[in-house]
Amino acid sequence: MMKTLFLHPPSFEGFDGGAGARYQARREIRSFWYPTWLAQPAALVPGSRLIDAPPAGITLDQVRPQAKEYELCVIHTSTPSFPSDVRVAEALKDMNPRLLIGFVGAHVAVAPEPALRATEAIDFVGRNEFDFTIREVAEGRPLDTVDGLSYRREGCIIHNRERAVLEDMDQLPFVVDVYKRDLRVEDYFIGYLLHPYVSLYTGRGCRSKCTFCLWPQTVGGHRYRTRSPEHVADEIALAVSYFPQVKEYFFDDDTFTDDLPRAEAIAKRLGKLGVTWSCNAKANVPYRTLRVMRDNGLRLLLVGYESGNQQILNNIKKGIRLDIARQFTGDCRDLGITIHGTFILGLPGETRETIQETIRYATEINPHTIQVSIAAPYPGTYMHRQALENGWLKDDGKELVNEHGVQLSALSYVHLPHTEIFDSVETFYKRFYFRPRKVASLVSEMVRSPQMLTRRLREGVEFFRFLAHR
Ligand code: SF4
Repeated sequence: MMKTLFLHPPSFEGFDGGAGARYQARREIRSFWYPTWLAQPAALVPGSRLIDAPPAGITLDQVRPQAKEYELCVIHTSTPSFPSDVRVAEALKDMNPRLLIGFVGAHVAVAPEPALRATEAIDFVGRNEFDFTIREVAEGRPLDTVDGLSYRREGCIIHNRERAVLEDMDQLPFVVDVYKRDLRVEDYFIGYLLHPYVSLYTGRGCRSKCTFCLWPQTVGGHRYRTRSPEHVADEIALAVSYFPQVKEYFFDDDTFTDDLPRAEAIAKRLGKLGVTWSCNAKANVPYRTLRVMRDNGLRLLLVGYESGNQQILNNIKKGIRLDIARQFTGDCRDLGITIHGTFILGLPGETRETIQETIRYATEINPHTIQVSIAAPYPGTYMHRQALENGWLKDDGKELVNEHGVQLSALSYVHLPHTEIFDSVETFYKRFYFRPRKVASLVSEMVRSPQMLTRRLREGVEFFRFLAHR
């Protein structure tokens, strides 16, 4: 095996763009997902190391000397961070010209050729599901025999045939071994999850076809391919022995509730382990399944509502009705399941009126906490193609974030300029959080828990600082 470094490189300060973030940007409050997509191949390459620079506060100057210690470096990149990731690759190559450098991630999976042409420092791109692609490269196999690889040879770019989609998901190794070896669980924060938390995947792919959503349209696909409930429970049991300090486990599958019998089967196993857990869900899970999950340790659901306007939901092929989502939210409230709801402004069909409608809908269904994002047209998505065809892209859509890594509005409509979409985010947050009912519920949460008090006060300061720097 080649001596291999897996790197989520340093970029913008506080940038949550790792191999686990669904949209890559600096968040309102300190926030980092686990680099699970890098941990998976790292677990397949014995003797490797994973460096997740942003959460650990590791700078380029600290990473640079590592170039001499390794033969292969695999860098996870994203559309917003690609130019900065290229600079990191060039710095490592300067330090060790013999270092083989590969890029992975959706951004290079959809356009490997431009990535390889961007700099000679990138030797190859591991496209789509790259776990076993990287393992074969690390084994030292000739690059022309590795499926799913694009690489440079004598000035030409060669694209090998596609790698077969992974069907037996139990072949994927446990990531918690890599987390234990290379990461500090205390470095990972998500505002709505208990701290410290651990997140991992129990499957890949999503059955829904939301037009804006990056992963199912690139690396994951539209079939939900899953690990067996036993395999998942074994990994969580191992994690519990490794990390007794962890307060919550999060299943970051695109839609954990896409397979309800399996979700219930996993829940029952987790119930026996006595852990607190949470997951991504679509706003249509029936009461019965919610109750089984709640009875077995489910604390929180992360739910993408996206919009409070039915036509917009139809435009983006969300496959959800507002009344069903309303019923689901009420069911969760009755069962004591907390919801963190996510919304997106600036989706196709958005107008000033629909923004107001969405804000009213959010305050009416009243999830415990919310996140408001700006529609981001990632290359490789239907929405990106649609934006190109309709001339909605500002600056050709090159700028998804500003110089601080904060999300910008890349879409602009004749009837709704990008500046209005951008400004509406702040209005949304203020209208949602600065209500007596919401303030009272957050204060009561803080009064009940001194740890929550400290945390919310810190997050409050970060939140206002974030608004001031947008
Ligand atoms: S349901 Fe969620 S994960 Fe699935 S395609 Fe839609 S936004 Fe993406």
